[in-house]
Amino acid sequence: MPEGDAVHRTAGRLRGALDGRVLTRSDFRVPRHATADLTGRAVVTTVSRGKHLLTRVEGDLTVHTHLRMDGSWMVTPAGRRTPPGDLVRLVLANERWQAVGLRLGMVDLVRTDEEARLVGHLGPDLLGPDWDPDEAARRLRAESGRTIGEALLDQRNLAGIGTIYRAETLFLRGIWPWRTVGEVEDLEGLVSLAQRIMAANAHHRAPAGTVTTGDRRPANRTWVYGRAGRPCRRCGTRISRGEMGTGPQERLILWCAGCQPR
Ligand SMILES: [Zn+2]
Repeated sequence: MPEGDAVHRTAGRLRGALDGRVLTRSDFRVPRHATADLTGRAVVTTVSRGKHLLTRVEGDLTVHTHLRMDGSWMVTPAGRRTPPGDLVRLVLANERWQAVGLRLGMVDLVRTDEEARLVGHLGPDLLGPDWDPDEAARRLRAESGRTIGEALLDQRNLAGIGTIYRAETLFLRGIWPWRTVGEVEDLEGLVSLAQRIMAANAHHRAPAGTVTTGDRRPANRTWVYGRAGRPCRRCGTRISRGEMGTGPQERLILWCAGCQPR
């Protein structure tokens, strides 16, 4: 599942292809907006908010998309054949480029002044200009009885974290995922660490490989994520894999019972 850094990179690719150019084609393949047509309007810009993408178009319109589990945006020169079947949810094209949204989990078209209805509930965005670790910690602290593992994934507390960053950040701080928020001593330190790792990943071009160890070789990129049953890089204990919380795709948790004791 794409996390905040992947969405942030996607916004950058969409800006490069669409910003300031007039749309020569728009094709919404979702029932709700099947008749929408943005042809003739220039794209202002695309920004990311946590895992959401907002593409602002002339005339105070915003196209809101979310990659959810396995969505993506493919940018190619205009006129290239688009993938077959029902994978395509949205096409935005200008004379030079086409952006093709595949398997998008959400596609909405709203007035730009209504963006808050879609993303106003989000906590501070780890990669946004409004990033505020104290506010993120304050929101977490308000749910002191919840497990830290679940609270970190709740986008209302802070926006951008998914299962990879959750597992890696908790490992690096030595925190058992089922510890309650109230039992975590330094919430500001925890969210600041998550932000630093994500920011470091946001700018390099390896979407398939989140690096939290500092070592970009494919087998060495993470501490616990993707390493169930293998020895911990710090203590040698076999990495545990389990499930926590709700949400069908976001239950996966990996941890080291040696480094993250109860
Ligand atoms: Zn360990």
